[in-house]
Amino acid sequence: SVPLTYFSGIGAGSRRGILFKGGASLEALNNVKTIVMDKTGTITKGNFVVQNIVPAKGVPLNEGELLWLAAKCESASTHPIARSILTAYEERGAEHGNSTVENIREQAGEGVIASLEGKTVLCGNVKLMEHSNVDLSGYHGTPGSTEVLLALDGRFLGHIDIADTVKPDAKQAIGRMKAQGLRTAMLTGDGQASADAVAQSVGIDEVHARLLPQDKLAALNEIREKNGAVMFVGDGINDAPVLAGADVGAAMGSGADAAIEAADVVFMKADLSSVPTSVKIARSADIISK
Ligand code: ADP
Ligand code: MG
Repeated sequence: SVPLTYFSGIGAGSRRGILFKGGASLEALNNVKTIVMDKTGTITKGNFVVQNIVPAKGVPLNEGELLWLAAKCESASTHPIARSILTAYEERGAEHGNSTVENIREQAGEGVIASLEGKTVLCGNVKLMEHSNVDLSGYHGTPGSTEVLLALDGRFLGHIDIADTVKPDAKQAIGRMKAQGLRTAMLTGDGQASADAVAQSVGIDEVHARLLPQDKLAALNEIREKNGAVMFVGDGINDAPVLAGADVGAAMGSGADAAIEAADVVFMKADLSSVPTSVKIARSADIISK
């Protein structure tokens, strides 16, 4: 049974755009020790913008051709990275010959595999390249940025730098969580360097990078075993299993329907300050009940 005072917590939440799906989620929130957050769309805005197009040395492709190839591979994807490549292509791209990219398959957490005139095209992160044994000795990435690499039949063609920005309230919100005595952790499918750069800029304690969507739940369970109950905050379609597996799952109202459905708490404002505010509401509801 849930103390009656939790109903006042539900009301206090809704006035601040925080929708608790029931009193039990407020009670569970009181026992949370670590706030575990997804990176893209949760800590960052998820608005990626193409910064640089870098063909590999010795590859007979110019920037426009590399962007064309990436845009063809990403044409069916709804991932924010794919949208940024398509936007850049629409702004500056041109057609290149009559070649068509076909058999497009998206690999969650890695990128896209397709074919171009019988050859295999890869468009995605280092993990995707490593799984296909692409020789990356000619790749010199920029630490801290998100990069999309391209390869054709095992040959590295170049990369495209893409930047996302941290939400303006993220650092302050994480400071408030710490002041509440909570540990903070970030889970992401992105590379280690770009994950570390974001974590450092906002003050996150613990980083788990290069995770496939199915690895996120295992990482969450590991954190829970070490440090106790966890709240997970995410927004993506891939985040639904982790939201369901957390002691408290919180979804951004701007996120995917599957995430909102799987969550115990929904933040109508897509900012991170809703996290410490929800903790504060849960704690005051608990004091009243005792
Ligand atoms: P996050 O955990 O940050 O929300 P995702 O699991 O959606 O990220 O993706 C993890 C990583 O997989 C991305 O940072 C990117 O490197 C790669 N990736 C996923 N989908 C695509 C795609 N369509 N094109 C290129 N790269 C992709
Ligand atoms: Mg995400």
